[in-house]
Amino acid sequence: MKRNDRKVAVVGAGSVGASYIYALLQTGLASEIALIDLDAQRVEGEVMDLSHGLPFIPPVSVKAGTYADCADAHLVVVTAGAKQIPGQSRTELIQKNADIIKSICGQIQDQNPTAVALMVTNPVDTLTQVALRRLSLPRTKVIGSGAVLDSARFKYLLSRHCGIDARNVHAYILGEHGDSEVPAWSMTHIAGIPIRKYCETCHACDYATHHREIAEQVRNSAYHIIDYKGSTYYGIGLSLLRITAAILRNERSVLTVSTYLKGEYDLKDICLSVPCIVGAEGVERIVEARLEAEEQEQLERSAHVLRQVFEQVSL
Ligand code: NAD
Repeated sequence: MKRNDRKVAVVGAGSVGASYIYALLQTGLASEIALIDLDAQRVEGEVMDLSHGLPFIPPVSVKAGTYADCADAHLVVVTAGAKQIPGQSRTELIQKNADIIKSICGQIQDQNPTAVALMVTNPVDTLTQVALRRLSLPRTKVIGSGAVLDSARFKYLLSRHCGIDARNVHAYILGEHGDSEVPAWSMTHIAGIPIRKYCETCHACDYATHHREIAEQVRNSAYHIIDYKGSTYYGIGLSLLRITAAILRNERSVLTVSTYLKGEYDLKDICLSVPCIVGAEGVERIVEARLEAEEQEQLERSAHVLRQVFEQVSL
């Protein structure tokens, strides 16, 4: 079946799926969005609610879909699953969500998709690897939202601390989307200046202490939001929109999506986040930066944590 380059199928009509579609609709990026969920009533409700805003935005069709919509979609986004509850770690969710992802991937696979599959359900790195096993798609086309959200949180917190537009801050979180994530300070720049050099000339704060605090805040962001309001969905919704734009418009943007490594960064057989050039066919190239020794060690530790989680999953 011929691919519709502006079609997105979304599996999972919960808070994350709906927030993402609400953001996506307004951009005019997609011409067709199909929403799929076990809960047919919820899908109907979301589709009606979202459609009532269509007179105010560029033309787009939003519909209650079926897995057949994955056959000609350019992008299939999977947000279905159980969510983290207060006090629960992401990894505790694993087997429950792995079983859901296995069943969903089986149904997507039945459609012989050529789409890029974007996994979001947590623990996202592990479930991206589960999806890669279940879908007959190359590793470049099965990606996870990974640390795109964490990198956005990192940029936002740095920009707020330094009083600078977040768009002038380049900063990357690598590794697990979770507790072992790695702030890549050696790759962090403000106004094109490596952050440590920038801080040395700014003198506004005791930067070593603040760097530690900011990294900790990034790591704990999701826990705080879940404590305060039950779950996170707007930040991830916009992160998914950013990845969608890179794919649908073939932007070749550098994003820290979760991808299967085959020796890059001296790591293999594991999905985790590293900077990738993302375009129409998914990950077009993994950007191999030279990390500082401590960062490389942290990345290897993160890969070790993820490997242990993946080994627990019954495939
Ligand atoms: P939610 O409970 O609001 O929605 C989940 C939806 O999945 C429900 O509508 C449910 O009916 C559907 N579902 C469950 N099993 C299904 C199946 N087998 N087939 C089709 N649909 C099915 O949850 P949410 O807040 O939208 O979160 C969804 C997932 O996204 C969670 O795993 C959450 O942890 C994750 N998440 C990831 C990130 C990230 O950065 N990767 C950020 C936030 C949330």
